[in-house]
Amino acid sequence: MKIILLGPPGAGKGTQAKILAKKKNLAHISTGDLLRQNVSESTGLGEKARNFMDRGALVPDELVTQMLIQRISQPDTKNGFILDGYPRNLTQAKELDEMLKTHDTRIDLVLYLDTSMPVIIQRLTGRLVCSQCGLNFHIKNMPPKKDMLCDNCGGELYQRTDDNEQTIKKRLAVYKKEFSPLIEYYGKKRKLHRLSADKEAEEVLNKIMQLIEGYNDSLKV
Ligand code: AMP
Repeated sequence: MKIILLGPPGAGKGTQAKILAKKKNLAHISTGDLLRQNVSESTGLGEKARNFMDRGALVPDELVTQMLIQRISQPDTKNGFILDGYPRNLTQAKELDEMLKTHDTRIDLVLYLDTSMPVIIQRLTGRLVCSQCGLNFHIKNMPPKKDMLCDNCGGELYQRTDDNEQTIKKRLAVYKKEFSPLIEYYGKKRKLHRLSADKEAEEVLNKIMQLIEGYNDSLKV
């Protein structure tokens, strides 16, 4: 199964994708995580991407799509994948479809995690990320059991450099500009399902699971 999670920064795409990937034996592909890894390892791609990411701008399509093609061709995607953070604009959506077509496959579901502005700001400004396993925590909503250490692997937690007020504003402006054409594109293809992601993570997950089961049932008919 191939799923796209769409939604603004702070919608909880990463949190949901990690749980879903485990439950459904799918690969979790986060372009943001892949880019941050490249930045921290100072690869050629990382050096090119760093400046865009620090400004809250999109990394050029050709760089991200090339990186995605390589990731999707890895063996752990055989059973399918969950895309988190890709596509970010219409060009990427079309490139993704073209790429999948050459592999004789397609996206099954696009889940749009609709989130209100106060929730987005509250989540992003308090977000903590594990430097080892990438699990997300929140200073207030989901604090770690031990101060600044991951409950899952004991790794150190950090605040993302782009989770500051100024860059958050820029990221949201980019999102607003790009998101309508994407919603329209997947709406026309009848793949889009909207759900409110303001709720607690568990409630959102239950809704996602229902949508996946509904889709699987529709294939049996
Ligand atoms: P995220 O972790 O998804 O919030 O992404 C963090 C940053 O990585 C974004 O603000 C962009 O600079 C960059 N990025 C992630 N995914 C993409 C993408 N699909 N296209 C362009 N830039 C991206």
